[in-house]
Amino acid sequence: MKCAPSETDFIVVGAGVAGLRAAIELAAAGRVVVLAKKEVTDSNTQWAQGGIAAALSDEDEIGLHYQDTLNAGDGLCNPEAVKVLVEEGPARIEELIEWGTQFDRNGTKLAFGREGAHSRNRILHAHGDSTGREIARALYAKVQTLTNISVCEFEFTTDLQINDGRVCGIQLLNQQGGLQLIDASAVLLASGGLGQLYSSTTNPSVATGDGVAMAFRAGAEISDMEFIQFHPTALYLQKAPRFLLSEALRGEGAYLRNDAMLRFMPKHHPMAELAPRDVVARAIVHELEVSRASEPVVYLDLTHLDGEHIKKRFPRIYSTCLQYNIDITTELIPIRPAAHYAMGGIRTDLQAHSSLPGLYAAGEAAATGVHGANRLASNSLLEGLVFGAEAGHVMRGELRTLQTRSKTASTNATNNVASDAEANIRDIQSSMWQGAGIVRTGAGLKQTLHKLAHMQDKLEHPKNRRAWEARNLHTSGMLVAKSALAREESRGAHYRTDFPAHDDKKFLKHSVIKCDDIAFI
Ligand SMILES: Cc1cc2nc3c(=O)[nH]c(=O)nc-3n(C[C@H](O)[C@H](O)[C@H](O)COP(=O)(O)OP(=O)(O)OC[C@H]3O[C@@H](n4cnc5c(N)ncnc54)[C@H](O)[C@@H]3O)c2cc1C
Repeated sequence: MKCAPSETDFIVVGAGVAGLRAAIELAAAGRVVVLAKKEVTDSNTQWAQGGIAAALSDEDEIGLHYQDTLNAGDGLCNPEAVKVLVEEGPARIEELIEWGTQFDRNGTKLAFGREGAHSRNRILHAHGDSTGREIARALYAKVQTLTNISVCEFEFTTDLQINDGRVCGIQLLNQQGGLQLIDASAVLLASGGLGQLYSSTTNPSVATGDGVAMAFRAGAEISDMEFIQFHPTALYLQKAPRFLLSEALRGEGAYLRNDAMLRFMPKHHPMAELAPRDVVARAIVHELEVSRASEPVVYLDLTHLDGEHIKKRFPRIYSTCLQYNIDITTELIPIRPAAHYAMGGIRTDLQAHSSLPGLYAAGEAAATGVHGANRLASNSLLEGLVFGAEAGHVMRGELRTLQTRSKTASTNATNNVASDAEANIRDIQSSMWQGAGIVRTGAGLKQTLHKLAHMQDKLEHPKNRRAWEARNLHTSGMLVAKSALAREESRGAHYRTDFPAHDDKKFLKHSVIKCDDIAFI
């Protein structure tokens, strides 16, 4: 295992699609250190199943992808950012193919799947339902050919270092449990999402909102945190992780059934099972509430579809469910919604600049405004790719002479996992699920904020990685709940029963939090 050096030109925190793509761009301009807090294969990118969207088929147009993205975003997308995404996406994907990414094909032609709220078949996929893993494999293979890039695993970034108002490096908890500083000309936070904020999530354990929390502590602007996408269909079985059952299954014709075996989506939305994710997630919550079962679930039903095709198209989902004794071609799959994707994050412009000089952000940790109030399915791998490349390009152009400083990180930490950190994390997760989840109220949000405020003191001064994660989850949770309380309307993925309608006059704006202030701009 490689260890992080004490100085470099560029630090990239994160080895998912955004971080790896940025690093490739940066390698031509200087030394790049890519940090991953666990193995390189631990990221949301690795779990992405359904695919990556781009207007590349003969029947598609960039303008249609643009319009579908704006429609899903419910009035809050930044149209300029969406334009960059859909216009640059196809070229970034062609590049991925050149670097060896094996997307699925029909004969020699790329195969395009369909997902909810897309007006065309435009989702590229790989090995059926392992798209993220294949993209990450190809990006990592490319990274390994570039000698300027060092990828350091099990190095946990704890905080940003600031000098004269400029981000000039990071502090990390290294593999030996010691705190260490790295100086750099610029830092990119590509640290991914925060699904672990909730007791039920599709996200792997690394998704603890570290980037957002450390940027907030350093004084950066954080935006749109109230918009958390809950995926409607995660496997729901005792003792099984909340494994994602991709939207592409519904794209292939799967039905949702309640415990009376009735299809319920047609009564909630004209697009039935292919309605936007927030609509499907809330419809499921409604069905769970009206069910008389002691442990209610709803079901995903593929039994009317061609079993051989399903096995071939979704091999990972098929084999994972089989491990839990469910043959998805002949049996119904019990499901519930789970936290899935953060639309908000570190506020950036179109060149990945945060509000702090020297700090850049890309991928799920960033809020470019591309997803507005709700992300269109399969747009996030594309966002990581397009804005990761853009971040690398811009950072290269803005390279400054490195200011080496005297090192001050001295306190020794330890990598031992503390059980009180685990208990604190569970408390945060259940408060967030109960009060700041799929269906929200002002009273519930206030209660969650109150509970989180009471936990604050015991989370200060973390001594190990898990305790840092608990503190970061706590900070991210406060940001989500505060923004959700301030947005007194319902829009996209943010739904409040006390304010069930849009309020365009007051809230056709982005929430921005900096230190203790929240504003809508
Ligand atoms: C189950 C699942 C299915 C999905 N399916 C799709 C899909 O089909 N299509 C789609 O477009 N999107 C999908 N998504 C969303 C998409 O995968 C993510 O939004 C995207 O991959 C995020 O990429 P990223 O590079 O920003 O972050 P990630 O891929 O999450 O990478 C984050 C990196 O940051 C590192 N890191 C985090 N904190 C620290 C720290 N403190 N110190 C050091 N390193 C740190 C991690 O170790 C990791 O390497 C899915 C997500 C999940 C969970």
